[in-house]
Amino acid sequence: MAKPVIVWKSGKQLSARSVLSWRIAQTAVWLVGAFIMFCLFFFPSLGLLLFWNILIPVAPALLVVFTGLWRNVCPLATTILLPRHLNFSRRKKLSATQLGQLNFAAVVLLFIIVPLRHAIFNNNGPATGLLILSLAVMGIGLGLVYEWKSAWCSGLCPVHPVEKLYGENVLMTLPNAHCHECMNCVIPCPDSTPNIHPQSSKKTIWACMSGFLITGGLPGFIWGWFHVPDETSFTNISGFLDVYQLPFACMMVTLVLYGLLSRYFKGTNSRTPVSIFAAAGVSCYYWYRIPSLFGFGNFGHDGLLIDLTHILPAWSISAITIVTTGFFFYWLVMRKKNNSSWVIRPPFGEKQVSGNQKLTV
Ligand code: SF4
Repeated sequence: MAKPVIVWKSGKQLSARSVLSWRIAQTAVWLVGAFIMFCLFFFPSLGLLLFWNILIPVAPALLVVFTGLWRNVCPLATTILLPRHLNFSRRKKLSATQLGQLNFAAVVLLFIIVPLRHAIFNNNGPATGLLILSLAVMGIGLGLVYEWKSAWCSGLCPVHPVEKLYGENVLMTLPNAHCHECMNCVIPCPDSTPNIHPQSSKKTIWACMSGFLITGGLPGFIWGWFHVPDETSFTNISGFLDVYQLPFACMMVTLVLYGLLSRYFKGTNSRTPVSIFAAAGVSCYYWYRIPSLFGFGNFGHDGLLIDLTHILPAWSISAITIVTTGFFFYWLVMRKKNNSSWVIRPPFGEKQVSGNQKLTV
């Protein structure tokens, strides 16, 4: 039997000039990413410095203000969406349960990988390179099967839960530089939904659990993580697993706090705890990360970018961290939700369902 065609409602196309500009930006950032990867394998000290002490420390602030910019130029996204851009993808659609499971797995992956920075990745360039390569292979595999960003960028990518938590009130909406047509592959689409946050979808138990875990757990997890030193001389597996103890214990504390707080905010105020915990997470990150970048950290040279201890007084670093904390609480908690999405939803595409019957959805 002939397949009908579903015709999606259409939006505004990007101009050729805008597409070209975004392709140039994506290529430039991809080349930077490829250079960092090269350094991680062949010049590990430089690669580790560029990746863990420059790129990663910038990322949380970027996600708070311009999540869409990162979504548009992330080198991993550019790589894994290549099969779709080149029409090699099978373009399958995930069910709500599958999407929820991928989102839950993304949170679990994040909480498993990050403590391993203390044990391996912070001091081992090739291991960090292999980690990124493994994630890229997983992403490409999913991109070959599933439509647009659904399975990786909005599914299993371990950065995505953090994007959703921090990117709930971005500065402005940018064009979508990847999906040139929207196939409604993710509902709700994190890119196109105004003020999306981890609790926006309650369609499945998996979506609820992943939203609760990342929102309530992340601030405690971050606090605990910064109180564990880098350790590379493990003699047994239990020493290796020690890097998880404090982050997980602190995560449990903030999960309970979040659970209790959520009970007191109902109706229109129900997202206030999400905003408070998002601000607490990113503020806690910079509270510890800025001092360690400049030599004022808890554990000597862990996370050091440049030692400024002979130039700057300690109080100046404390002043900076107070300012960043104030900024994130203002931006995420006090500032009015501005109804902005990360990127503009592109024109809806046509989907071949069966025959030549056309359905509008
Ligand atoms: S914009 Fe449309 S096609 Fe792109 S990820 Fe969102 S739902 Fe999928």
